[in-house]
Formats: sequence, structure tokens, C-alpha cells
Amino acid sequence: MIKTAGVYEVPAIGFTGGDFLNTCILVHSFKSAQETLRILQQIELDMGRIPRTGDTYEDRVIDLDIVFFDDEIISTDRLQVPHPRMHERNFVMQPLVDIAYQVIHPVLNKSTRELSSNLEPLEKMAGFEIPLSRKRYPIQNLNFIAVEGNIGSGKTSLIHKIAEDFNAKQVLERFADNPFLPLFYEDKERYSFPLEMSFLADRYQQLSDDVAQKNLFKEFTVADYYVIKSLIFSKITLEKQEYSLYKRLFNMMYKELVKPDLYVYLYQTEDRLLENIKKRGRDYEKNIEASYLSQIQQGYADFIRSQQELKVKVIDVTDLDFVTNQEDYLKVLEKILED
Ligand code: ATP
Ligand code: CA
Ligand code: CA
Repeated sequence: MIKTAGVYEVPAIGFTGGDFLNTCILVHSFKSAQETLRILQQIELDMGRIPRTGDTYEDRVIDLDIVFFDDEIISTDRLQVPHPRMHERNFVMQPLVDIAYQVIHPVLNKSTRELSSNLEPLEKMAGFEIPLSRKRYPIQNLNFIAVEGNIGSGKTSLIHKIAEDFNAKQVLERFADNPFLPLFYEDKERYSFPLEMSFLADRYQQLSDDVAQKNLFKEFTVADYYVIKSLIFSKITLEKQEYSLYKRLFNMMYKELVKPDLYVYLYQTEDRLLENIKKRGRDYEKNIEASYLSQIQQGYADFIRSQQELKVKVIDVTDLDFVTNQEDYLKVLEKILED
């Protein structure tokens, strides 16, 4: 169990009976939706629910429905997902917003928050909270995981999922704020040095501020970059003398920085990187060439081979689609934890 929502009390609708207590939970599992439904129905039986015979609603000790199953759309006699009546019921939507406000309904194409806002608001029951099961996940024993990879390898999506699932603080590279980045892609020779300098300054500052500072409410930290990235890219973009100056500065700063407990490198082929870059459609990235990507790839390979200080794990994500496929995502998590 990953997240639990508040509890909402609602009078029985459509029949006379006791009030209902409603909530939502988010769980992760390897099981299919069909298997999950079977398990839920078994729990209902075990708790003493008597299966209903007619078409009317009635009192029940428990009712467990699947509301979403990733973004799957399922329509069989036994199972319909997303739940066909969820968006009409704020006793479903409101607790769902508590745990998944950004999730988009795959049929209605609206966020849970939007859908809920069209319904009569319910009040959360005060002092009534479902405790999250105390299970600790091994990944939470790492204090700081840094994920690197080539442009378009999916670093940000991966750490975003990890942060959400395991209650980690996410540290994201602030490339969007860098005024030199679009300029660099226009005129590499002119802008590579200020670009690399500003990235280094920014990365140093963020890693020393954000990572070093413990967040009491988060279990650990995941970042979608590490300062090593500066070294890899500058070696490609800077000319020799600039690079040696840069490297001197880099080494001074590197000494001071927190080291990740685990440094993950996502390996992806250049073809798929290009595909991903195209898909996300950032204007200034549209002229990135395969040769540039392979230089970066090579830079990382050289670094990983030569360095001894960090605990490095290279994860081959060539055949994995961890963004949309839950099983692939779990495979990546397993790899992260492998010894
Ligand atoms: P409602 O579906 O309107 O909330 P209910 O939950 O009271 O009604 P039940 O008697 O619990 O209805 O379930 C009737 C059938 O609904 C179940 O036997 C199950 O096969 C089917 N079903 C279809 N889709 C789902 C789903 N997403 N989650 C749970 N059950 C579902
Ligand atoms: Ca129901
Ligand atoms: Ca049900």
C-alpha cells in the first residue's frame, strides 16, 4: 500500500440503510486487473459480505471496487475499468483526489481533480485516518539516489515515479531556467562555456542545498542528475583549454558535494533516444544529432569505467518502457536494488 486517502461519510443513496464510509487507497502489484478483482472479492467474502442477488443496492460490510488500473481501459462483463460510475460519485472522486489529483481519467481525459470539482463537495471525517501499512521498502534505505543517462533516456519520469511511490524527495535539474541552453543549441562555439559554467554553478548549488538538507517528511532523495553530468557534457562541448580550466573548478566543487549512495546510469540506444526526444518536442532539442548522443554515451562509458568512488549501476533500459508499463518499471526497481 502506497497511499491512503481521507475517509468520507455519506448517507446510503437509493435505499434505506446505514451511512457509508468511503476511501481510496493506492497499491502496487504485479497482478493483472482480473486477478486483483478476484482477490478483492475474496476479501469481501472473508469479511462476511453476502453477494447480492437482485439489482438493488443494499447494506454491506465492505465493498471493494477497482477505480483505476494504471490507465488501462477494460470492458468485460465481470470487470469495467475505469469504474463506470466513479465520475458521478464524489464519495469516490474526492478520496481519489486525495491520493491522485493529477491522474487523468483515460476515457474522459480529465484529471480527477477536474472531475471532482463538478460534484457536490464532501467533508473529510476529522480524526479518522487509515494508517499506511508500516512496511518499509529496501529502496528507502538508500539516502540519496542519483539517476543519470543520455538526453531522452527517461531519467525524470523514472525518478518522478520513484519519488511518488516511495515518498522520496525529488531533485530535478532546472534546465528550463537556463538562459544559455537555447542559445547554445543555436551557436555551440559561442555559448558552450557560459552554458557549462552556469550548469555547474546551478548543479552545485542545488545539490548542496536540496540534497544535503534532510526533509523530515520524506524517506530519501532521488535526483534526475548528478554533478558528473557537467564533466561529461563539458568534455564534449568545450575546447581543450577551456575544458582543463573547467575541470579544475569542477574538482574543487566535487570534493565538497554529497555523494549518492547509488549512481544509476540508464542505458538506451541512440535510435530510441532520438525517438523520445522527438516525442517530447522541446523546440531547442530538435536538431540534436545521433553523433552528439553517441559522444555523450561514450563520455559516460569512459567515466563509469574509470571511476572508483561511486557505487554505480548501469541499467539497460533498451527493451523497457518503464514510463507506461508497470512491469517494466518494477524491473527497473529490482535492478536498482540488486546487489
Ligand atoms: P457499483 O459498481 O455501482 O459501485 P457495487 O459495487 O455495489 O456497485 P457489486 O455488487 O459489488 O456492485 O459488484 C457487482 C459486479 O461488478 C461484481 O461482481 C464485479 O464483477 C463487477 N465489476 C465490474 N467492474 C468492477 C470494478 N471496476 N470493480 C469492482 N467490481 C466490478
Ligand atoms: Ca461499489
Ligand atoms: Ca463492488
